[in-house]
Amino acid sequence: MDVRGIVADDVDVRTVSTSYGETELAEVPMRLETADAERPDGRVADGGLETERLADGHERTTVTLWNKWTESAQLLEPGMELLVTDAETKEYQGEKQYSTTGESYVVVEPSFLVNVTAIRNWVECPRLYYLNKLSGVPLNYPVVKGTIVHEVFGDLLRGRELEESIDARVEERGLQLGLLGETPEAVAEDVRENATAIEGWLEQGRLTEGDGSTEAAESTEQTFSPAESSWRSEQLLISETFGIRGRADAIRRGAPVELKTGKNLRKEPRFKDKVQAACYALLLEEHGDEVDTGTLLYTKNSALDRNEETGDLTPAKDFSMGAGLLKFVVRLRNEIAAMEVNGDVPTGYEGDAKCEYCFEQDTCMVVSGRLAQESKAGQIGRPLPDEELEYFERLYRAIEAERRAVHREYAKLWRQDAQERADDDRALIDLEFVEKRPLEEGRWELRARRTAGGTSKLREGDLVLASDGHPVRGDAELAMIERIDEEVVVTADEPVEVTRLDVYPSELTTDRLLVALHDCLLKGDGRRKDVLFGREEPAFSLPEETFIDNNAAQNEAVRKAVGAEDFALIHGPPGTGKTYTIARAIRAMVDRGERVLLSAFTNRAVDNALEAVLEGIGDSLDDDRIVRVGSESGVREDMQPYRLERAGDPEDRLAELENARVVAATTATCGSREMKEQAFDVALVDEAAQLTEPGTFAAANLAERFVLVGDHEQLPPVVRSEGGTQHGLENTSDDEPRAADLTESLFERLVERFPEAGVMLDCQYRMNQRIQYFASQEFYDGELRPAEPAVAGRTLDDLEGVTRDALPEQLRDPVAFVDVEGDGSRYTDDVEAARIAELIETYADAGLAYDDIGVIAPFRAQVSTISKHVPDAVAVDTVDRFQGSSQELIIVSFTATGQLEGPIFEDYRRINVALTRPKRALVLVGDSRALESDPVYARMLEWAQ
Ligand code: SF4
Repeated sequence: MDVRGIVADDVDVRTVSTSYGETELAEVPMRLETADAERPDGRVADGGLETERLADGHERTTVTLWNKWTESAQLLEPGMELLVTDAETKEYQGEKQYSTTGESYVVVEPSFLVNVTAIRNWVECPRLYYLNKLSGVPLNYPVVKGTIVHEVFGDLLRGRELEESIDARVEERGLQLGLLGETPEAVAEDVRENATAIEGWLEQGRLTEGDGSTEAAESTEQTFSPAESSWRSEQLLISETFGIRGRADAIRRGAPVELKTGKNLRKEPRFKDKVQAACYALLLEEHGDEVDTGTLLYTKNSALDRNEETGDLTPAKDFSMGAGLLKFVVRLRNEIAAMEVNGDVPTGYEGDAKCEYCFEQDTCMVVSGRLAQESKAGQIGRPLPDEELEYFERLYRAIEAERRAVHREYAKLWRQDAQERADDDRALIDLEFVEKRPLEEGRWELRARRTAGGTSKLREGDLVLASDGHPVRGDAELAMIERIDEEVVVTADEPVEVTRLDVYPSELTTDRLLVALHDCLLKGDGRRKDVLFGREEPAFSLPEETFIDNNAAQNEAVRKAVGAEDFALIHGPPGTGKTYTIARAIRAMVDRGERVLLSAFTNRAVDNALEAVLEGIGDSLDDDRIVRVGSESGVREDMQPYRLERAGDPEDRLAELENARVVAATTATCGSREMKEQAFDVALVDEAAQLTEPGTFAAANLAERFVLVGDHEQLPPVVRSEGGTQHGLENTSDDEPRAADLTESLFERLVERFPEAGVMLDCQYRMNQRIQYFASQEFYDGELRPAEPAVAGRTLDDLEGVTRDALPEQLRDPVAFVDVEGDGSRYTDDVEAARIAELIETYADAGLAYDDIGVIAPFRAQVSTISKHVPDAVAVDTVDRFQGSSQELIIVSFTATGQLEGPIFEDYRRINVALTRPKRALVLVGDSRALESDPVYARMLEWAQ
């Protein structure tokens, strides 16, 4: 039986005498989960025995961990989650207690999914694991070559021809190879040498299995029947028991095969490689395979000259997978999970590695020295100033809290059932599998039909887990959504018969935030940090030139952007022409011979800004000096001609990127290995108020100076660890550390600290004056005004075929309030939805086209409800989706009866976004009693009525 629960108190570890001699045990006081959970393997998670029942409904008991598991027990702290598999029960003074058996595994914080590669790093040295997290994997040849060799291996397993695969895979890495100064021929040759071992090994398997050749069979120790010899290429595996995830390079006869692009002349695989293979064994066992061997394939072995090297030249080394190794691996994994949950930093003393043999010794010493950390390797250099150390600590903790929030999302993959996930908009379920089609590059196109309607937050370009029914317990693979409407089309490495798609949050964003923070503080320019930390004031050399002659604030903004020596801030409230200002500033910079990075949080904003730059750049620059870096699905159709292809001839690809005077990419892409090799005179970042500080650094780190454009009175950075911000449907527990340090953007901090470095664009070109009034008073100190009389006076009458006289009196004013008592539900309101549907018909009868109408609701559930009531052409969405866009008529659904509940209403910036979307008419629909309960909403009501 499995025992799962929360550590309730301090753990007692001691040595006792038994009939086998002295042995260690740990007694762990635990609160058990009360529900008996049916598990995929038929085991039952027991929590409902006759133990002491606590006031909170949990059972309290003691779990005894024996022998080596006491090492994991020592990691435990009250509040941590613990799982003990195959525990036995015993009666002690009338109370039921549990203890480990010879079959048991003890898993600390099982919901935290530790990567297999992390465990491998950890076994080398725990500090190495930390360093890797902090500085990321740089672009270097061994890493790129290793990736290509792995890809070729996968291709060969899928039946692709060797030379075709090598050519294609080398070509795909054109840009990276160009940046590394490698030629395709040399790389192909290098890969070919490694691939020989792979081919030989595969051939061996095939001959033995296929034609019964005695010679071949004798040449190998492995004798297996054809059925047993089946292999699969890599696949994402997640273990909900052991809290491990990873992709084995291959699985043969149900056992893991790991490819290493190095040599190993010993008979045995290297220990760290065995550990890696053992992790995959655990993953496979959870999926029902019995695993007792692993294979390591050292591709360099076959390329060695037998005369020069002595030792075991066989590339493939098998080893048997004992229970001792598997348990050791789980204990290692427990160390990582405990450290991650506690936010500790390893020193290197936890392991036995010798620093003098470590490739990362220099980095290790520099990081320890600069961050004032204890390290086995020692320290080099002076520590950062106190304020920088304090900042690093704070941000590190916040980013790690974010990582844990991502892991809580992962845990929901198995903790929530399919319907719950669908209701929470985390999954599309009950799809009908249609077909799978092999693609040229060895991938698969998978198609499925939706059997139920409804909206989904899944979009084209999103990465999801495509499964044949369950994302963890079934066959599942990471897939990219290519198309999503009635039919869903995804592409994946493996041909999963997809019937379900699950949201799979990426940890990559978190990884890149940490690297950007590290790069800013440890590699960053001294002057930059002096200004960021308030030790110096930002400097300007303002040009005398007039850039925009009909808008003083815009002109001033361009002057500041061009003349900033450190940074400039452009505050752009809704509709104030900030995209135009960006385009004008970039043109001025390009005219001065500068190389500009144009960045933003979302692909949409990057494409919008780039479009304006293209319009405004005129003859200053040839088209081929402007490059958009991004994935095919991320970049808008009309910007595709500017998209930098990564595949192709290395020299051509490199020239294309390096010749570009304007490079446009999201901040996430700025953290990519390719972009990190680039240098710019200036980074101009749009939507900067929606970026976390480290997120902004990802772009700013690449340039000498930076310009941030945004509006901190609109939506702040989306931070998972605060919960509730995306759907309003989830709440995090109180004891969860909040990532408050990430919710304030660098833009906001700098605007407040250095107001003179910023300019607010004060003329808006969007809204009728009556609509604009409330936002201007409430959020912009009354400074926002219409740019011209035509804007101030715009109404629906200006639109062809629309007459306000056809509307009821109440709706003729550009701002109206419709009082609806509501149905009292929390996240939906049918009464409001029905009233909104009527309003839409009223406006349509007055001549307004459906596609000129937008409806904003606070919760996705209400978006769904309203969508069912109104024509498809009406755009219905949350505030988050509407930010950055505008519409002739906006109807806002408040979905609150009696009182305003939840964080969604607490952040007034959301209502600012909603109220500043319309151009000519705004209708607020809600319960006046609820709105009056809050002073800001009460003022809004007064204005609207
Ligand atoms: S230098 Fe020493 S402490 Fe640092 S990562 Fe290498 S082995 Fe670990």
